[in-house]
Amino acid sequence: MSLTKAKEILKTQFGYDEFRLNQQQIIETILSQKDCLVLMPTGGGKSLCYQIPALISDGLTVVISPLIALMKDQVDSLKSYGIEAAFLNSTQTSREQVEIFQDIRNGKLKLLYVAPERLLQSGDLFIEFLKSVKVSLFAIDEAHCISSWGHDFRPEYLQLAKLKRNFPRIPIIALTATADKLVRQDIVEKLEIKNAAVFVSSFNRPNIFYSVEPKRNSYSRLLTYLEKRQNDSGIIYCLSRKSVENLAEDLRSEGFKALPYHAGLDKETRDKNQDLFLQDEVNIIVATIAFGMGIDKSNVRYVVHCDLPKNIESYYQETGRAGRDGLQSEALLFFSWGDVTKLRDFATVEGNANQSEIMLKKLETMGNFGELRTCRRQFLLQYFGEDSDGHCGNCDNCNTVFERIDGTIIAQKALSAVYRTNQKFGVNYLIDFLRGSQAKTIREEHKQLKTFGIGADISKDDWFDYFKDLISQGLLKKTEGDYPTIVLTEKSNKVLRGEEKVALMDLKAKEPKKYSLVRDVSHPYFADLFEELKKVRTAFAKRENVPPYIIFSDASLVEMATFLPHDLTEMQKISGVGESKLNRYGQEFLHQIVKYCVENDLESRIDFKIPKRERKKTRPSNLNGTYTESLRLFKAGKNISEIAKIRELTRNTIENHLAKFISTGELKLEEIVPKHKIEPIRQAILELNETNALSPIKEFLGDNYSYGEIKAVLATFEL
Ligand code: ADP
Ligand code: ZN
Repeated sequence: MSLTKAKEILKTQFGYDEFRLNQQQIIETILSQKDCLVLMPTGGGKSLCYQIPALISDGLTVVISPLIALMKDQVDSLKSYGIEAAFLNSTQTSREQVEIFQDIRNGKLKLLYVAPERLLQSGDLFIEFLKSVKVSLFAIDEAHCISSWGHDFRPEYLQLAKLKRNFPRIPIIALTATADKLVRQDIVEKLEIKNAAVFVSSFNRPNIFYSVEPKRNSYSRLLTYLEKRQNDSGIIYCLSRKSVENLAEDLRSEGFKALPYHAGLDKETRDKNQDLFLQDEVNIIVATIAFGMGIDKSNVRYVVHCDLPKNIESYYQETGRAGRDGLQSEALLFFSWGDVTKLRDFATVEGNANQSEIMLKKLETMGNFGELRTCRRQFLLQYFGEDSDGHCGNCDNCNTVFERIDGTIIAQKALSAVYRTNQKFGVNYLIDFLRGSQAKTIREEHKQLKTFGIGADISKDDWFDYFKDLISQGLLKKTEGDYPTIVLTEKSNKVLRGEEKVALMDLKAKEPKKYSLVRDVSHPYFADLFEELKKVRTAFAKRENVPPYIIFSDASLVEMATFLPHDLTEMQKISGVGESKLNRYGQEFLHQIVKYCVENDLESRIDFKIPKRERKKTRPSNLNGTYTESLRLFKAGKNISEIAKIRELTRNTIENHLAKFISTGELKLEEIVPKHKIEPIRQAILELNETNALSPIKEFLGDNYSYGEIKAVLATFEL
């Protein structure tokens, strides 16, 4: 019963057709009065996990959140969906607060946002108050703040243990986007919800395109990059306040709408700049890492790092601010090893050798990410302990065909430098040596060698790239340890003797990537209409004094500009258009769309939105014997592993066989895939718009789903 209700609310209030990831199971769990711990990446859709139960249940849902700055945004957003919500914090007058208390007593409010300190203020007064009204659920956002193992420990969170003690029967849902195993355990212990059901989604952000470019001529590269993205919002991170100011200034003089943000600016300026960015009045914010905490803007299309972040955690968090709305977004890093060297000083913690070592190691890993030649997403996910296969198709390395040039001479120079200096030095030294540096660090006896300076025609950065390439081809090797040196390998000799040619990456031939908001281009959206719709949105946002993305997300506007709804009924099929928004804004957006369609002689394409897959009648298979043998065994009750064993084939092969019979209709999907997994898989496929590559889907879904199960569901798409 309540599940149907949950789906109904998802559509009517929020305007979404399907649940994402584990949302449905989480909601079911809460509705059965059990505690939950939810781990989902940024933008995964954590809020709905407690908002929908809040609407179904009788009584008040109390949301505890540490970020006061975000509360207004969240409440505005709920109101835009026609939901009664409020927040309590120190920015309000006591009169305003009294009104809220009254609304709670009268049962008018469904959701109340409070900061932890407010909840526990003045003894247990507030707790006692809550006992006197009907509370249906406690939601604890940013739950990792309770753990001192986490990166954002807030002592006031520890007090939240009181909740379970005072309200033993009321379920608690703890949510976070960052928590390793230790932190997870800490959360359930500290909150005293040891029986909580734990839901972990994959941390992959499939809609973020990761790329790295060498940090040379980076300013002019940046300009070219930004020119192509004039209508988009983006964040550019720099290391120092000074460079933030300079870059913002330079960009402004180039005609970009850019503003600076760093802790050195006075609060007023900072708030103003942030607001202008949130309101889409300026589209670029140039910032130090001080910017971003508590920014919920869903349509940040790109995050650029002009300087290297200190570690992968920071990089992931900062780039994660892009694409919360699920549309294709980008993370670009300008990388040079020089930055690693520069950051080493920062990474060293005075008088704490252990800590310094950890920090330096993390920095080194960040450097490795910069010079990676394999899938960047795989690297990131593995860093966070998730498996994934090696080709995501949505990062620079997966998307680039590296042109190769004859690099025999270059390779010979590099290898002889290693040989002549007796394989005792690191990359930095070797490059200085090759380039004939006069630095004191270069030994006098080395300056006398014939090889000294033979690589002066190649820049330092290019040399780094060539060394990387030589190492990845096994022509050189980097030793382990604190002071890695570069040594020769068995393969080196032939090259040194001129018996073998070497192909190296052409550093100038990286292909630029095609740019589109959506990965599926079978239904392109009308970009100029999209821009028009944004204007309509801005007008509403101004009138209601909320950020534009609260009116409609970019994702909703892109859908409108794709499927061109012609009336309100069609409009309601657009994702993110619930009843309340339809009534309030539908007409004006519709007007704009219809006008555009008349001018351009276009018709509604709403029928494309839900692809009607005509189910064909069962086709008898004329698949060969090996397929039918697998099917026979399966029908005889053997599972996939058993069949694989009997037939001495891989699981993978058996899965392929069985999937074929799903697409012919001879096997039912439910026979292979547990029922509760079907919908999430289907959803992931639709959401990613991916019917060819399995790995993005697998990454999206996480460990609980196997390739075989995904394959099986995919097969139904061929029906
Ligand atoms: P998080 O808190 O996990 O970072 P949010 O709860 O802010 O993420 O959700 C991110 C975006 O995804 C929001 O714009 C939200 O409306 C949207 N969203 C959430 N659930 C769904 C869904 N089932 N279908 C479509 N969009 C969704
Ligand atoms: Zn990749």
